Amino acid sequence: MAKPKIAMYWTGGCGGCDVSPLEVGEAIVDVLSQVEIAFWPALMDAKRADVEALPAGGIDVALINGALRTEDNVEMVRLLREKSKLVVAYGACAHLGGIIGLGNLHSAQSLVSTALGPGWHAGSPSFSANGDAPPPLTAGVVPLADVIAVDYVVPGCPPPAQLIGLFFQTLLGGEMPSPGHVFAEEKALCDQCPREKEDRRLEKFVRPHEMEPDPDRCLLDQGIVCMGPVTRGGCEAACPALGMPCTGCVGPTRKAGDLAGGMISALASLVRAGDEGEDAFAREDEVLAGLVDPVGTLYKYALATTWKRRETGGEDA
Ligand code: SF4
Ligand code: SF4
Repeated sequence: MAKPKIAMYWTGGCGGCDVSPLEVGEAIVDVLSQVEIAFWPALMDAKRADVEALPAGGIDVALINGALRTEDNVEMVRLLREKSKLVVAYGACAHLGGIIGLGNLHSAQSLVSTALGPGWHAGSPSFSANGDAPPPLTAGVVPLADVIAVDYVVPGCPPPAQLIGLFFQTLLGGEMPSPGHVFAEEKALCDQCPREKEDRRLEKFVRPHEMEPDPDRCLLDQGIVCMGPVTRGGCEAACPALGMPCTGCVGPTRKAGDLAGGMISALASLVRAGDEGEDAFAREDEVLAGLVDPVGTLYKYALATTWKRRETGGEDA
């Protein structure tokens, strides 16, 4: 059987995803011996012209990480789509827009002015004294599926070793699931978490650095916002097991649909006042108002998935 030709490409992201296959440890040697690398600029010298020279379908699987932030990102992923039989959104940025999707809280122009100074323009090349130019930015950050068809998702920031291993094992086994499959659990992370959950009523929110949590009890029960109830399992609850809350990088369960929406609903039920008198609702509001940085907490990875809808007045673009 011919070895599958794979590509790995990094768009708007931190680069962590691009090297994350090493997370599987020594097994990477076995994986690399069973695939042919057609394009992976971080690993071997390859240019855009090399991809342009390939025939349509010349790449079996393109793993694309990072969100789309520049016009160049958009052009490259369109080219890779044209040349690839399968495209995988690899990592939270490609899947959901990721942390850089929080840039959508500001205009592209204000981001460029803040980072580079006045006189620089987001939409077209604006040259500095030494001739450098930032790449033209798109109006907002979008995830991969907003621009090209995506066949599979390997989620996470970066994807955990278990899910990377699962993907390559499935690919090399030759039986891929139906398109649209997300290589993670259908069930919520709480299902994999070793902490004991009691669904206690929340009296106040606490940020992770403000307390040393009980090592055995659920973090959410202790007032730390943990996205476990709405996030897919697959990482063996790596962060909660070490005392840090889940921040939702593997993306929402099918049931939650939307990380922030699902979590707001979970939190609302945990601060419930029941029938404890007329001040009860005011107390609930007070607890909820104590949530610091609600967008950065609840939409840390998925703000960009709502951006087009907001830009078009509530309708999907
Ligand atoms: S998903 Fe996380 S690790 Fe991957 S590129 Fe984005 S920020 Fe980096
Ligand atoms: S610590 Fe987080 S992942 Fe673990 S049970 Fe509690 S909410 Fe779920």
